[in-house]
Amino acid sequence: MALQLTNVTKEITFDAAHMLSNYDGKCSNLHGHTYRVAVTLSGHPNTTKTASDSHMVMDFGDLKSIMQSEIMNRMDHALLISAEEFRTEAEGALMNWASKFGKKKCIMPSRTTAEDMAFAIGSWVRDALQSRYHDINDRLQVSVKLWETPTSYAEVKV
Ligand SMILES: [Zn+2]
Repeated sequence: MALQLTNVTKEITFDAAHMLSNYDGKCSNLHGHTYRVAVTLSGHPNTTKTASDSHMVMDFGDLKSIMQSEIMNRMDHALLISAEEFRTEAEGALMNWASKFGKKKCIMPSRTTAEDMAFAIGSWVRDALQSRYHDINDRLQVSVKLWETPTSYAEVKV
C-alpha cells in the first residue's frame, strides 16, 4: 500500500477578547470572539508496521494534546494583547489591568489580527512538535486556519 502525502487536521474553538490598536473602526474597541482553529499536518504516514502510529501522519490524540497546551492553555478565555511595538496606551492600560487583577492574558508576538494570530499559533505548534519529535521539519508541513467569525478566516503555512 502506497502511503500518499496526506493531510490530517484537528479543530478546536476557544474564546478570547482583544482590541485592535492603531485601527480605525469598531474593532478598536474591546470585544470578543469564539475563535475556531484548524491545525493541519501534511506528510507521509509512518511506514513502520509495528509502530502504534503506523499508517498515521500523527496520532490525533497527540495533536490534540499539543493544541491543548499551545493554544487552549495560552489563549482560551484570555485577553489577547499586541506586542509592545503595536500597542496603544489604551491597550497597555488593559494589559496592566489584567496584571493587577490576576486576569488571564496572552501577549502575542505581533498584532491580534487573524493573520498574525494564525502565524503565531502555527509557530507555537511547530516548536512544540519539534521539541517532541525532533525531525518534524523534514517530515511535516504545519498549516493553520483561524476563523475570527464563522465566515472570516486566515490561513497560513509555517
Ligand atoms: Zn476582533
